Amino acid sequence: MTNHLFALIREALPAEAAAKTFIETPDGRRHSYADMLARSGAYANALVAAGVRPGDRVAVQVEKSAEVVFLYLGAVRAGAVFLPLNTAYTAAEVAYFLGDAEPALFVCDPAKRAALAPVAENAGTTRVLTLDAAGRGTIAEAADAQGADFADVARGPEDLAAILYTSGTTGRSKGAMLSHDNLASNARTLVEAWRFTADDMLIHALPVFHTHGLFVAINTVLASGGSMLFLPRLDAGLILKLMPRATSMMGVPTFYTRLLKDPGLTQAATAHMRLFTSGSAPLLAETHAEWQARTGHEILERYGMTETNMSTSNPYGGERIAGTVGFPLPGVELRVVDPDTGSALGPEQVGMIEVKGPNVFKGYWRMPEKTAAEFKVDGYFVTGDLGKVDGRGYVHIVGRGKDLIITGGFNVYPKEVETEIDAMPGVVESAVIGLPHADFGEGVTAIVVGAEDAPDEKAVLAYLEGRLARFKCPKRVLFADDLPRNAMGKVQKNILRDQHAGLYR
Ligand code: ATP
Ligand code: MG
Repeated sequence: MTNHLFALIREALPAEAAAKTFIETPDGRRHSYADMLARSGAYANALVAAGVRPGDRVAVQVEKSAEVVFLYLGAVRAGAVFLPLNTAYTAAEVAYFLGDAEPALFVCDPAKRAALAPVAENAGTTRVLTLDAAGRGTIAEAADAQGADFADVARGPEDLAAILYTSGTTGRSKGAMLSHDNLASNARTLVEAWRFTADDMLIHALPVFHTHGLFVAINTVLASGGSMLFLPRLDAGLILKLMPRATSMMGVPTFYTRLLKDPGLTQAATAHMRLFTSGSAPLLAETHAEWQARTGHEILERYGMTETNMSTSNPYGGERIAGTVGFPLPGVELRVVDPDTGSALGPEQVGMIEVKGPNVFKGYWRMPEKTAAEFKVDGYFVTGDLGKVDGRGYVHIVGRGKDLIITGGFNVYPKEVETEIDAMPGVVESAVIGLPHADFGEGVTAIVVGAEDAPDEKAVLAYLEGRLARFKCPKRVLFADDLPRNAMGKVQKNILRDQHAGLYR
């Protein structure tokens, strides 16, 4: 038996591995595919020497660097389960994740070692090594001392390759158990769907602790033998400077709104690019249109989750429709059901989105009840997202089930109200939430971020009258300088609900 995921990477290795760039960093440093093989081999040896056994978790909370990518691949080759953690997590949060995951080894930033080593020890993890943003630290030194040759540990399609915690947008993050084939099959699918080849140069400015930056981006590049320009973070100026050398970029919607604010974003600046993708949060149709007007490129929006990898995508060749997430990817089955009865709904009917396929995870780590509750008997996973399939087969996401507002017995989909408000002159964006209300159960409430010429509450309400049924219209419109967002650019509606919980009391 081979190592299922790494075998895919070996198959895709460019013939001239020593000459072909895998990762290039802004300081001009290049890591070839031969370097990737050697360095991941050295990390695999270092992990084994540190006592990591197949199936053990390797938890990592470090800044982005090429070295952490090699550490990830070393963990896969050693048969371990890679478990990256958001760099923003505090010591108290790390304590929870380490206690939950019980890793054999924890790798953290050298600057945080003194604070986190006791936390790890409390959680039962005595091995703590370090890695900094420059790719140096005790685990890098341990790899330096090892040889590059490593016989990949045999792992089957169903064996775990990673546990990835969800973004925590709706509550406490859950550990999604991802198998070798969950990752390998999705990488293969995306290479095909988005036509990645060894000639691609991807601008990578996403974090590497999340499925988007780690698996969607890196595994797709590896499975095509292409190259990446690896940026520590979103930097619009630098991205514009790099575009003439790049072919593609994967971003969250914030990437696109930020770049649009830069006058340097023009048709000429993006002429060498062939593909811009967006996901992790809804892309406003307005952003899609502005991007097309400025650059001539249509952003390709797709939909996925930590639990499912990528499930749908707008077509590469066909029409990319703003406000939709396209069609189910090959091999992915998607249906929309009535959340109350579970029966399948037809085109245009809004309900709960469920998916099934080789992309869907193996369950939540140490949450058997939650896992059982989110899988149907016929194997479909209940995503928690509400949406519909239109007459042409395009999937639309209307929002999360947890954000659905029920007011006076009527369902209100926040996105429908937000779309109307966002279209108003002087409005930058909005979030519509339900707040406890004595008469209605929940009161529809809008939080609006205005531009300089922002309308006031009365003007917003007057504008919506006649555009929306009365029960959908907000009872109150509040204003804010910006909306609370997490690291992936997702609006944190639970924070807004907590902040304004007493509005109608
Ligand atoms: P948690 O599950 O911990 O509350 P989360 O759901 O934000 O956090 P992720 O797995 O990072 O964690 O995000 C998946 C979710 O992101 C999807 O369920 C969906 O709600 C949203 N999402 C992803 N892509 C899109 C998209 N293109 N349009 C709209 N929503 C999207
Ligand atoms: Mg989720």
